[in-house]
Amino acid sequence: MSLTEKDRQYLWHPYTQHKISQTPIAITKAEGALLWDENNKEYIDAIASWWVNPFGHSNKLIADAIYKQLTTLEHVLFGGFTHEPAVKVGERLMEILPKNQQKIFFSDNGSTAVEVAIKVALQYFFNKNEKRTTIIAFENAFHGDTFAAMAASGISFYTQAFQGMFIDVVRIPVPIKGQEQASFDALEEAIKKHNCAGFIFEPLVQGAAGMVMYEPEALEKLIQICAANNVLTIADEVMTGFGKTGKTFAMDYVSEEPDMICLSKALTGGTIPMAITTFTQDIFDAFYDDDINKALFHGHTFTANPTGCAAALASMDLLETTEMQQNIERINASHLDFQKKIENHPKVITARTLGVIFAVEIKSDSEESYYGSMRTKLYNFFIDKGVVLRPVGNIVYILPPYIMTDEQLHKVYTTIEEAIEMV
Ligand SMILES: *Cc1c(COP(=O)(O)O)cnc(C)c1O
Repeated sequence: MSLTEKDRQYLWHPYTQHKISQTPIAITKAEGALLWDENNKEYIDAIASWWVNPFGHSNKLIADAIYKQLTTLEHVLFGGFTHEPAVKVGERLMEILPKNQQKIFFSDNGSTAVEVAIKVALQYFFNKNEKRTTIIAFENAFHGDTFAAMAASGISFYTQAFQGMFIDVVRIPVPIKGQEQASFDALEEAIKKHNCAGFIFEPLVQGAAGMVMYEPEALEKLIQICAANNVLTIADEVMTGFGKTGKTFAMDYVSEEPDMICLSKALTGGTIPMAITTFTQDIFDAFYDDDINKALFHGHTFTANPTGCAAALASMDLLETTEMQQNIERINASHLDFQKKIENHPKVITARTLGVIFAVEIKSDSEESYYGSMRTKLYNFFIDKGVVLRPVGNIVYILPPYIMTDEQLHKVYTTIEEAIEMV
C-alpha cells in the first residue's frame, strides 16, 4: 500500500470532508522554503505551513537546540517543578513584549492560549466578586477550535454544530477603513448592555478571515473604550506574532497596551507545539491570595515542555538577527511592488500588504464561500504549479517563511498572476 492509501485507511484530517476531498499529498522532506513529495515533486511553501515557519524548514540551529535539550532534560512536570529553559523564555519575552506584560503561562497551541486568556478574564471578575460573564469579539474572528476559542470565533461553518452551547459572546464589526465609528459604537453599546469581562481581537490582521486588515489607531480607540470600562483586552497574536506584520508583535504598532497576549504558531519556529498567554501584574494579583480557590486551576501535561522552550529560545535568537530583520523588510518591499503591479488589474477587487503578509481579492461572479468552487480551482492550480497557497474563498494570500528567496517569491507572484488570468 502507498503512503496515501494507508493514510486513507487510518487517518482523519483537519477541516476535511473525506468523502469529497482530494487525496492528501505525502511530503517526505522539507528545507528552507521548499517541500518535496513522495514523487520528488518540489513545492514552494508560500504560507509557512499554516503560518508557523518563519526561519525555514528543517532549520539546523533550532534542530540542534532541540537535540541538546532532549539529551539534557526532555520533560518534567511543571506543577511543583521548574527549569531553566522555561525561566529563560519568560526572561526573553519580557524584553520584547509590551512593557505592561509581567507574567507568562504556558500551554500547547493557539486555541489553548486563547482558552486560558478567556478563562482568566472570566475568573478575574469572579475572584473580585463581580458578575461579568460576556466576552466581546469581532465578526469573522478566528481564535481556535476549543470551546471558548470557538465561541469567540465568528466564522460560522467552524462552529454551527455547537450553537447554543457557548459562553456568552457579543460580536462587533471590524473597524476597517471608513467604518471605524460603527465598530466604536457597537463596542460602547455592548459594554452598556452586557456584563462584559473581556474583549478579544486579532490585532491589525484577521488571519483566517482572509487577512482582513485595519489600522492601529482604530484598535487604540477600542482598547481605550475597554480600559475606561474596566473590560480586559486580549490581543490574540497567535498568527501576527514574531515579525509577521513587520514588527515583532502587531501590538508594537499600537500605543495602547493590551491586558493579555496569546502567542503560538511561530513561537517555536514551526517545530514543537507550544503556546503562551501573557498577563499584566494586575491580572496575576487578582489570583494571588491566601485562598487556594482563587488560583488558576488550569494546566496541561506538557506545560512548559523544555524541548519546546529550547526551540522558542533558538527561534527568538533567529528573529533578532540583522539578517532576519532584513529578510522581513525585503519581503515587505517586494510585496508592495507586487501589490502596485496588480491592484488595478480588472479582475482584482483589492490588494493589501502588512509586513510579510500579502492578500489579493479576486473578482468572482458568485458570492464566494470559504471553500467555494473558485477556491478549489485556485488551490488546485497552485498545487499543480508547485506552489502551496490556501485561498480563503476568492482571497489569495501569501505569508512566506522570511528566508524565502527573491526567485522563489517571484515564482509565487507569477503563479498568482497566471491564476488571476485563469479564473
Ligand atoms: C491559528 C490561530 C489560532 C489557533 O491556533 P491552533 O494552534 O491552531 O489551535 C488562534 N488564533 C489565531 C489568531 C490563529 O491564527
